[in-house]
Amino acid sequence: MAIVVPRPRLSTAEKLYFVEIFKGLALTIGHAWRTLTRTETLETLDYPEVQPDIPRDYRSQHRLMQRPDGSPRCVACFMCSTACPARCIEIVAEEADNAHIEKRPEVFNIDLLLCIYCGLCVEACPCDAIRMDTKKAIIVEDARHKFIIDKNSLLDWKPEDYPAEDVISQQAPGGLLNAAALAAFQSGSGH
Ligand code: SF4
Ligand code: SF4
Repeated sequence: MAIVVPRPRLSTAEKLYFVEIFKGLALTIGHAWRTLTRTETLETLDYPEVQPDIPRDYRSQHRLMQRPDGSPRCVACFMCSTACPARCIEIVAEEADNAHIEKRPEVFNIDLLLCIYCGLCVEACPCDAIRMDTKKAIIVEDARHKFIIDKNSLLDWKPEDYPAEDVISQQAPGGLLNAAALAAFQSGSGH
């Protein structure tokens, strides 16, 4: 059954349209004036001079977590590359010099142009070896190959850029908890 939608009853001023046009213009000019004079009230940033403050749990560029001696926590199990729907993680495993670790990555590349930032690699990792909490969400390069980040780039981060309560980050070299963690690691009671 058809539904009859009643037409709104317009006042005489509304029927003239000019009044409504000027009301619309006044609103637009008001916003333009606010943009020019009260920039602190705007929701926009002067990008790229001012970068957005990205939350830590936003899925941003990856990093490989480090053991207390700076070596990667990754044991080259391939679970992340298997879970990756974009097939953008390339791992080549090699034998680790520590018998308790067995394997480590000789090559660990991620093609950021293929990556869809789904976070499945982080979810799949059994030893918290890969994270996406660098807050690097704006990546600009001038060549395709520069978007492929290798193991050294993924390991290149500083503990001071991460919260003090982030234990794994702070156990890495330069971190607040490194000395004790390194002693435990070298004695074989920690990893
Ligand atoms: S975030 Fe998703 S697409 Fe990107 S490397 Fe991880 S699993 Fe692959
Ligand atoms: S799932 Fe974790 S430990 Fe396994 S290869 Fe990926 S990063 Fe390394």
